Amino acid sequence: MADYNFDFLFIGGGILGSSGAMALSKRLEERGENARIAVIDVDLEGEHSSTLKNAGGVRATWKNRANIELCKYSIDFYETIREEIQFRELGYFWMHDEAWWQEIKKNHPLYKEYGLTVELYPRESVPEFLPFVDNLDGIAGLSISRNAGLLDHYSLREYYRREAKKRGVKFFDRLYVKKIIVEDGRVTEIIANQVEKPEGNIRDNSELIKTYLVNPEKRFRVNGEIGYQSEAVSFKCDVLINTAGAWSPRISKLYGFNDEKIKPRRRQMVVIRCAEVDLSSFGLIIDTSHVYFHKDAENILAGYSNMDEPYGYDIEFNFGGMDEGSPFVKYIWLPLWRRISKFERIKFIRGWAGLYEETPDRSGYLGRVPGFKNVYECGAHTGRGLMISHGAGMALTDLILDGKFREELKHAKDLSRERPSGDLFEELHL
Ligand SMILES: Cc1cc2nc3c(=O)[nH]c(=O)nc-3n(C[C@H](O)[C@H](O)[C@H](O)COP(=O)(O)OP(=O)(O)OC[C@H]3O[C@@H](n4cnc5c(N)ncnc54)[C@H](O)[C@@H]3O)c2cc1C
Repeated sequence: MADYNFDFLFIGGGILGSSGAMALSKRLEERGENARIAVIDVDLEGEHSSTLKNAGGVRATWKNRANIELCKYSIDFYETIREEIQFRELGYFWMHDEAWWQEIKKNHPLYKEYGLTVELYPRESVPEFLPFVDNLDGIAGLSISRNAGLLDHYSLREYYRREAKKRGVKFFDRLYVKKIIVEDGRVTEIIANQVEKPEGNIRDNSELIKTYLVNPEKRFRVNGEIGYQSEAVSFKCDVLINTAGAWSPRISKLYGFNDEKIKPRRRQMVVIRCAEVDLSSFGLIIDTSHVYFHKDAENILAGYSNMDEPYGYDIEFNFGGMDEGSPFVKYIWLPLWRRISKFERIKFIRGWAGLYEETPDRSGYLGRVPGFKNVYECGAHTGRGLMISHGAGMALTDLILDGKFREELKHAKDLSRERPSGDLFEELHL
């Protein structure tokens, strides 16, 4: 069995594992220290990862200081690499119903305190800012967050990885973590299985990786028994960091932490075309129905988080197309058409499904895993993983190397499992 030794090992190389690896390697370089850092993933390309499924929206308008600080810190950084990550700071235009209008008004003083430009307008002003909206039913007010917009998730992840690799971080692909050995509260060894070669083409490879992520029991079943059918690789490390996204509870289980808080839930997005609605000068637009949409090249990307969706590892797209009664028609097209009559004639192009990792208070976990001497975690930021990624990577690094957070990120402590400031429920969440 091949074996490797590292000081720091991340399981999961999505946006959070990649950001964490960059932040850690950069800080160590600044301190003039050398360390061996690695990231393992079953599929570094990340075809089924949440990172490549998201809407690309970034904002800092949350209710809790921890989420505001980490997202603001990230956005300030994204502004410095704007071109590389195609960051378009075109704002969030949010049409609120009465309940969410009251909520954003309540949070507004906090946005001011953090220097975030968030403008609040009465419902009559909506057509002035969103000229294509011709039905104001159910709108109580409009908020426009200026320090917000859209970026390209793939470019951001690649940026983090490039910066990490420059500093010697090793990325291991096609390794599925299957076993973790713990001695006296310390993780001592991680055993991963090499993903076998696919039978034929790209489709086969995609299906193969999907089996590992959706139904690993099936993958490892040999002659009716759960077993290992491919080559194993062993990793030893001083510090383990769980950044496996929606799969992090499975990794937790391997080191003996029973995670009852993080639950995976399918979220779906569609691409449509409507030449009559020009969204080119807007970032993300959100309707009172909670349908969100934005321009994406020549098309429009739209999403809706169906709260009836059961928990589980389902990543099959099933919103359907234009057929009457399809979830797409019910949840996305009808609300859009009601609000903007020009959406009467649209073309459905395609759609996809990815996973949110939900927690009871809709805030993520960042910190040390209770009961373990050398295990940290960063994830479950729900629909916030992209927008929080840089701040989260920096905060994690502060905690691992210094045992405390820098001043701008001091509320990151609230994201530990212990929730020292109590529940971090986020109402304005999609
Ligand atoms: C439809 C949708 C829209 C969204 N929109 C937004 C948005 O607009 N803005 C925003 O900020 N966020 C959004 N999100 C959320 C965001 O995409 C996620 O929070 C973020 O991508 C999570 O990143 P991650 O690195 O934690 O997880 P992932 O990107 O899922 O990475 C986890 C990695 O772990 C690997 N892995 C899992 N198990 C194992 C194992 N056993 N062995 C080895 N590797 C393993 C996987 O292969 C994967 O690459 C959206 C999500 C969805 C689904």
